[in-house]
Amino acid sequence: MKDPISTRDIGPRAGTPLWLYMASTMLAGLGLLVFASLELGLAQLQSLVSEPLLWVLLCMIVLGELRPISMPGQPPNSGTPTSLPFSFAVVLFFGLPVAALLQAVATGVGGFVSGHAGHRIAFNAAQYTLSLGVADAVLRLALPFVMGVPWMPEGGELVAVALAGAAYFAVNRVLVMCAVAMHERAPLAQVMVKGLGQQVYVNGVLLSLAPLVVTAMTHSVLYVPLFAVPLGAFYTSVLLSVKRDHQANHDELTGLANRACLTVRARQDIGHAQQRGSRVGLLLLDLDRFKEVNDTLGHPTGDRLLQTVAQRLTHSVRPGDLVARLGGDEFAVLLPKVRDTASAREVAARLRDALAEPVRLDGLDFDLEASIGIALFPCDAPDFELLMQRADVAMYVAKSARTGVESYDPGKDRNSTARLSLFSELRRGLTEGALEMYYQPKVCLSDGHPVGLEALARWRHPTRGLLTPDEFIPVVQQSNLFRAFTGQVLDTTLARVAEWRQGGIDLPVSVNLSMRELLDPALPGTVNAALREHGVPPEQLVLEIGEQALITDTQAATAAVRALRGLGVGLALDDFGTGHFTLAQLAGLPLDEVKIHESFTARLTDDSDNGHTVVRAAIALVRALGMSATAEGVQTRELARAAEDTGCHAAQGHYFSPALAARDVPGWLGGRGRGALAGAFARHSFARRRFVPRSASGPVAEP
Ligand code: C2E
Ligand code: CA
Ligand code: CA
Repeated sequence: MKDPISTRDIGPRAGTPLWLYMASTMLAGLGLLVFASLELGLAQLQSLVSEPLLWVLLCMIVLGELRPISMPGQPPNSGTPTSLPFSFAVVLFFGLPVAALLQAVATGVGGFVSGHAGHRIAFNAAQYTLSLGVADAVLRLALPFVMGVPWMPEGGELVAVALAGAAYFAVNRVLVMCAVAMHERAPLAQVMVKGLGQQVYVNGVLLSLAPLVVTAMTHSVLYVPLFAVPLGAFYTSVLLSVKRDHQANHDELTGLANRACLTVRARQDIGHAQQRGSRVGLLLLDLDRFKEVNDTLGHPTGDRLLQTVAQRLTHSVRPGDLVARLGGDEFAVLLPKVRDTASAREVAARLRDALAEPVRLDGLDFDLEASIGIALFPCDAPDFELLMQRADVAMYVAKSARTGVESYDPGKDRNSTARLSLFSELRRGLTEGALEMYYQPKVCLSDGHPVGLEALARWRHPTRGLLTPDEFIPVVQQSNLFRAFTGQVLDTTLARVAEWRQGGIDLPVSVNLSMRELLDPALPGTVNAALREHGVPPEQLVLEIGEQALITDTQAATAAVRALRGLGVGLALDDFGTGHFTLAQLAGLPLDEVKIHESFTARLTDDSDNGHTVVRAAIALVRALGMSATAEGVQTRELARAAEDTGCHAAQGHYFSPALAARDVPGWLGGRGRGALAGAFARHSFARRRFVPRSASGPVAEP
């Protein structure tokens, strides 16, 4: 067991208890080393130096120092060195003076090669000298008569050897764990029991090899290097299990603890805090606008940014605190012992400061900002689950109020609790098929025939009845539910389309995509799979993309649109006129249809401004680009006329029909006569048109 505290290699500040402790351990170790060396004497030392066995043992000890067995939770390069069987064999055979000297030399060489700081090497050397010294003393006490040097343990004396091994382990562990406890400001008993079982196992295996090393080396020095084989096998098997354990508890990208690890640690810390009557703090941290970076610059850059964030967070907390990545751009910091909310806020401020320094990636500077929510056990929550939830509520408040840091305040919880419960209800709803699709007919303005249907989502809430999208789409967008949601919308809609096709209705049906859905790289695959599964030809599906999505992130959205184009589905720009989407941008997109937003359409009959001129011009341009224009929110006959006069091909709105339940659609279409059926589709549908680039001559397939 090496000193895990010094992996940062800065060393404790002079005068601190840890500094005093390390200094006194080093002094004691040095004293014992000098004393033991004196016992050896110069003549004996000279004769030992000429022994090949000693050099072979030294080599094995140095190699073993370079291959320590790290346990879960220990940083790499610190752990029980595989030199133990050899150094302990030297104590048994040659006694403490030789063992202490060899070990000190090996620790020095090993530490130097591994690049450890001087204070760490000195502490490790002292710790080994003292542990070996105690083991030697136990042997002398247990076997006062047979002890002589060199000594070979007989079968019956193995009990004494075991006692010495146990003493070595106990002293070594106490020496290291005292330092760890001081460094992490944790109770000694707590750090002592952590991973004790595994340590006993590893040390037991290594120490039990020592008498075998002695037996072998007295036969031939050549046997000693052979021990590298079983040791190598042991080292690899422990390494593998440590690796598996690490993978299960850590985030692959950043190497931070994952949610599972955080949960276990937090529960332990809460247990300890309960006994001590102290407080545990949980900070949830969410990066602001990280998604934009990810979407604009790509995932590799986003990943590197997350790694930088992880590093900065880790370096801004105290040893013993735990930084975890919960997924995406969400991190958590666990403070096992925190005085009050004010101290937790100080930590939060430090974390924000650490992130504030611009990050340079791909030649660009990024300003990172984060919103942090704080909750404390036991004042804010009695257990871990609630602690997480409350820290999340606080984080959400910090994000929406743009205050940066918020601690949990029950007064501000109402809204957020509603949001949280809406989220979990929707998650459940999606698995229980509570999502229903309604269909609003789209009508050809020149002859009143239906030319399409728009699928609109409804959620049958267990207590609140049928909810419209404005009540739940925000939750879908802001959570990880969007993928499941898109999947279900496509699945339900296309299943219905397939059913209608069998009844002779093959109108194109459009489905709406939010920005989050559109920018999901998995979307084209999902759409394609759904079409195949239901046997629906791609041209019968139209995807509607909101103008807002195209404005917010034009580049990424354009790329996504092109990828969808390749599937052969129809594409429509939704809500045209609500943002500032320019006609120049429109010209560069492979779209079939532009849907004029209700507010824009309404201006057609409004004589009080020149709005109708603007709308008219916009529609003319849409048509000139080879796209068809659809007026939305048409509620009156007058507006339907105006839309037709302006050049809109089709319209939707309550004047024709509200969104209908699926079972009412065939009836409605039937009432509209023959035109609803395949024949009318062939004449009027734009969805079968192919996109013709701007350079092509004139509009295509206008009615
Ligand atoms: P949208 O795509 O612009 O859909 C048209 C909305 O206008 C629908 O509201 C429709 O019921 C409503 N509407 C239809 N005719 C009239 C009318 O004459 N007057 C007025 N005032 N409204 C009319 P709905 O169903 O509440 O949907 C609202 C928005 O939610 C949709 O706007 C769409 O952006 C989104 N949405 C709906 N379903 C989905 C979906 O499955 N996925 C995604 N991502 N978004 C959806
Ligand atoms: Ca729409
Ligand atoms: Ca719309």
